[in-house]
Parts: sequence; structure tokens; C-alpha cells
Amino acid sequence: MASGQLSRAEALACSGCRHACHVMLYCDTKSQLFGRLPIRHIILMQMRFDGLLGFPGGFVKPLEETLEAGLSRELLEELGVALPISVEDHADSCYAPASSHSSSSPSSRLITHFYVKKMEEEQIREVERAAASTATDHGQEVLGMVRVPLYTTKGGGGLAAFLSHSFIGNARLQLADSLLRLNLVAPEELHKALTHSLKIHTHTAEDLQVAFALTEEKRKRF
Ligand code: AMP
Ligand code: MN
Repeated sequence: MASGQLSRAEALACSGCRHACHVMLYCDTKSQLFGRLPIRHIILMQMRFDGLLGFPGGFVKPLEETLEAGLSRELLEELGVALPISVEDHADSCYAPASSHSSSSPSSRLITHFYVKKMEEEQIREVERAAASTATDHGQEVLGMVRVPLYTTKGGGGLAAFLSHSFIGNARLQLADSLLRLNLVAPEELHKALTHSLKIHTHTAEDLQVAFALTEEKRKRF
């Protein structure tokens, strides 16, 4: 196993740890963008309250519930649908980067458990509808569900631009790893997209500098 990774059983053996579970819900689709670009798969992520992209899910309490039941409970709040999650959907567990430790409990390590669940296209569409209507977290902890664009447009947009956004914890890595493991994107294609993401990143930094300079000017006037 890669460093930082642990089995579900090893993870649960850490009673002093905090645990969070998240899931990648996805399906195959025959639909096309602009009637010509194959969308191939619908992968659901969300824009979180903190402005970061992440997968649906949250903190669970292994002393009171199974990891999977806790994840289902979180999904009901965030997506408005009671989705059953089973042990077979578990993909990996790992220690979260030190930066994700909350200041209220700096000593307890956070273990993030990641699940992957394949669904039918109509079920995914139903989740999207419920997430924007009946989910209690809509507009609160969840600002909106988003689909991951897996294609690359003529101008280089799509997957590369999506990957260059800001993600919570290890969500970007969980996404990239799942794309490869489930064969949703070819390794060469993902490599190209990430190369482009790095270039976009440089441009974003320059863009931020310009916006920053603008606020500096305004501040001086007051
Ligand atoms: P949440 O209640 O959804 O904010 O999840 C609890 C914590 O899990 C977050 O504060 C993050 O530090 C961490 N986390 C790790 N991976 C993810 C992910 N893929 N999506 C969302 N949160 C994650
Ligand atoms: Mn959450």
C-alpha cells in the first residue's frame, strides 16, 4: 500500500482517531456535449461551504455507527437521498494531511475513508434533483453539486481546468486515483490534463496578483 494508506480494519483499530467518509457516485452516459463531445461518465462532486470542491460525506462516529451507516446518514443530509453504502464500496482509507486537523482537537488524527459507488444514470439524475430541492444541507454546507468534465475541449478546457481548482483535503488525489483505477480516463489523457492544469495554475497565480493589486489600490483610498 502507498504511504499513509491503511486497511479499513487498521483504520478502525485507531480508537483515538477521528473518522470521515466520502463517496464518489458515478455512472456511464451516452450523452454528448454540444451533440459531439462524449461525456462518457457522470461523476458527482460538490462545491462546499468553504469554497472548496469535495466529495459528499463527512465525519462519522465508529463507536455509534458503522462507517457505511455514518456515510449514508451524511449523504441523506447533503444529497436528500438515503443511499445504501456497503463495505464492498470501500476503496481506501488514509491519514488526512496535517493541515486538515481542526484547532479544537489538534492531537487526534483524522482518517479519511473513501468509497466508490456505480449507479444508473437515472439514479444519478435523481440524486442531483434531490440535492437541490429536499437536501437539508443545500445552500448551507453544500452550495451545489457539480459534475466532473472528463473531456478536453478544443481550447484545452474541461478536465484540466477542473483539476486546477481548489479541493478539500485529499479529494483531488481521490478523484485522480479513481479515474485511473476505474479506467474512466486513460493514463496518457490524465497526464496531459494535469500538465495543462499546472500551466493554468501559474496563470491563476498571476490573475490573483492582479486582483490583489486592485484591492490594494482601493484600500489606500479609504
Ligand atoms: P466534511 O464534514 O465533509 O467537511 O468532512 C470532514 C473532513 O474530512 C473535512 O474537513 C476534510 O478535512 C476531510 N476530507 C478528506 N477528504 C475529503 C473529501 N474528499 N471531501 C471532503 N472532505 C474531505
Ligand atoms: Mn461533508
